[in-house]
Amino acid sequence: MAEEFDIPDEARAVKAWFSEHPRKVVPEILAWIKAGNWPHLWRGHTHTQPPTDAYPLYVGEFDLADKLLSKRHFAPCPCCSPNHAKYGRGGKVAWFPAEQVIRLIGPRCFASLNADAHAQAEATFRREKRAAEDTAYLLANLDKIGPTVYVFEELVGLAEAIDQLRLWLVSEGRAATQSVWQHSRGGLLHTVVSREEVRRLPNGDHHTVKVEDLKRYAEVAGMKLFDPKPKPLMPRVSGALKRLKDLEVVYVAEALEDMDDEDKNSLARRVGRAMRGAADIRDELADIKLGYSTQTLATLRTWGQRPDAPTRFYVRRTDGRLSIGRDEGTAATFNLHFRIDGRVGEIPRLSAAIPE
Ligand SMILES: [Zn+2]
Repeated sequence: MAEEFDIPDEARAVKAWFSEHPRKVVPEILAWIKAGNWPHLWRGHTHTQPPTDAYPLYVGEFDLADKLLSKRHFAPCPCCSPNHAKYGRGGKVAWFPAEQVIRLIGPRCFASLNADAHAQAEATFRREKRAAEDTAYLLANLDKIGPTVYVFEELVGLAEAIDQLRLWLVSEGRAATQSVWQHSRGGLLHTVVSREEVRRLPNGDHHTVKVEDLKRYAEVAGMKLFDPKPKPLMPRVSGALKRLKDLEVVYVAEALEDMDDEDKNSLARRVGRAMRGAADIRDELADIKLGYSTQTLATLRTWGQRPDAPTRFYVRRTDGRLSIGRDEGTAATFNLHFRIDGRVGEIPRLSAAIPE
């Protein structure tokens, strides 16, 4: 049996206080409920059954507080269950403009009185909620595009320089590049340790076999530099830059308040896609750049010249040149583009900024 409530007369009194859209009072209602109070005891709630020909507007949505939900305590609803527990989640703040009252009701309760009015109120509420979220999202994130454009303008030169280097690595430096790629997957370098293991044969004899174990040697960043099938970075950097600049044009040309909901939503999606895409490319460049840092190259060289390394590998960077091969004597040399040490700036990250 559903929990029974003793509804105070005060709750049943008609409070025709809301002749205007009650948006200002919604935060108070949500805070009241979040604090663990019963909706029907909120000071402005009218606990009477709404007329079936009413056209309410839904102006807010709420779940009961966790401390009630966790004990399976539910709220009574003036539409259909005025004295007994009925709903816990998805409650509606329903404004009835004709009566100028607010009722806090169950999620679909008014549909049983007037399905058409409920459907309209629901659709309007969803649309307005999305528009409010899109606006908040855009206000929080639009001004991050400018600084990202700035960082990407700097990245073009670097991307070009890295593309040249990678093209050379997979042509002139092919053999060495492939062996280092093969042996540095996941950024872990190993050495090979041999040991002898005594095995017993079925006839009772013993014999020794040589077993090779891999021993962790060092961690290195940026091994994607040696990808034997590198995807050029430059087109991706310029593509991202163009998408960001296009967005700048859109929002400079059209103020947010002049945009309709659909345009705002599509702009919010485009901003999200462009900024996430830009962050991925920026992070990938920063990572690949570590692949030819002094520290990484020194680690690779020391490792690749050890007798217990799984491959022989030599690499050194001096005076704007990169040499790579099996060893110093046979290494091929590439003249690095001066932009190879270009800066990878930080870009602002998106914030979700979905209002409560
Ligand atoms: Zn109800």
